[in-house]
Amino acid sequence: MSGRHSKHHNTLKLVIIGGGYAGLSALISLRHRAPDAEITLIDPRPYHLLITRLHETVRRPLKEIQIPFTKLARRFNFIHVQQPVRFDEEQLLTWNLQKCIQLDEQSLPFDYLLISVGTQPNSSITADGVYDLDTLSRHCLATELDKLLSATGQSEKTINVIGAGPSGIQFSFELASRLAGSHADYHVNLIDGGDRLLPLFPAAIGRYVKKRLDQKGITLLQSQFYRGQLDRELHLEHAHSGEKSILTSDLTLLLLGKTPRLLLHANSSGQVLVGEKRLNHIFTAGDCSYYDKMGSNLLTSQAAIRKGKAAANNILLKAGILFFCLPYMHRDLGYLLSLGPEDGVGWLVSKNNIISGLPAYLAKQASEAQYDLFLSGIDSYLI
Ligand SMILES: Cc1cc2nc3c(=O)[nH]c(=O)nc-3n(C[C@H](O)[C@H](O)[C@H](O)COP(=O)(O)OP(=O)(O)OC[C@H]3O[C@@H](n4cnc5c(N)ncnc54)[C@H](O)[C@@H]3O)c2cc1C
Repeated sequence: MSGRHSKHHNTLKLVIIGGGYAGLSALISLRHRAPDAEITLIDPRPYHLLITRLHETVRRPLKEIQIPFTKLARRFNFIHVQQPVRFDEEQLLTWNLQKCIQLDEQSLPFDYLLISVGTQPNSSITADGVYDLDTLSRHCLATELDKLLSATGQSEKTINVIGAGPSGIQFSFELASRLAGSHADYHVNLIDGGDRLLPLFPAAIGRYVKKRLDQKGITLLQSQFYRGQLDRELHLEHAHSGEKSILTSDLTLLLLGKTPRLLLHANSSGQVLVGEKRLNHIFTAGDCSYYDKMGSNLLTSQAAIRKGKAAANNILLKAGILFFCLPYMHRDLGYLLSLGPEDGVGWLVSKNNIISGLPAYLAKQASEAQYDLFLSGIDSYLI
């Protein structure tokens, strides 16, 4: 623990809305340097979700990636208020002026407020047998698969994964591996509206994924838009010809990505900007924020953790606990995809440096382990 005396005579009051990667990274950093601060975390979930491990719930219980806030609150000494907070820019201006949030049953005064509410799953047409990101975060997929695997009925069954972004790809490989392990008569389709696999990644990564999909017997259907599901009928429409088709689906995973409900613009210290006005008491971090200047604004856990730390340091600077801190300058150091147990692909350090196979898988596990360590109170994030 470090930190000089606060210029405040009263206890520093900090409120954080959203306990994901950015919110917790800020909270832990604040707690390390301001041991006496009163910290309140508001989040509608009773647990912090390790969402970068969500694809692993194909083979392991969801509970294992849910860290109860009660446990974290004991470790880092904060109060968890379990409820969602709705706000818009007007509301932020009022909060900044009043330095107080009014919740249903209590008012929460603050010196500094951090907003880190992340993103929401892109609107999707859900139906029975269709699991979107929200459902997958609340219901254990491994249990649903157990039920499906034990059900008798027609011979071959089909699982369709819609959206061939990083999440859809990771889920498809986990599914293929789990189904192969259980000797089930299943087929996995990976369906995407685009013409190119992983268009924002170096081409070599897309090629490696494609090769592995073929080897695992996962069918990649491109240029196909999801149009809904009725009973076991999955409706698709070709992106160019408009031709409609129907596939059988015993289970559909709808992984269409996430976007922020309200993207908050911030300066390079993480302070929220509303039009020309800088909100002195309100900071933001993570996927719901867009920082000015040179730091990365990618929607990744790595950027969210670094933004959380940068915002925390800038809050401590304002509170007089730190006398110096750098603006947010995080550059992305890599992106790794897991392709089932013991395989992966991605880039490290530079986009020209592609790694694949077991080394990529192990590098991804190492980055997850670094975050686990951080949650246990050991901060090894140097930059
Ligand atoms: C399936 C999946 C896999 C991913 N894999 C990777 C990966 O391998 N590597 C990588 O770098 N990135 C990955 N990402 C992206 C990464 O998870 C995000 O960039 C990261 O979670 C962003 O952190 P955050 O704190 O901004 O938001 P989140 O982690 O989403 O946390 C937001 C928190 O805010 C809470 N909240 C939401 N609304 C409200 C509200 N109104 N009031 C109060 N609280 C609210 C939520 O309950 C949640 O706890 C993945 C994302 C997904 C969906």
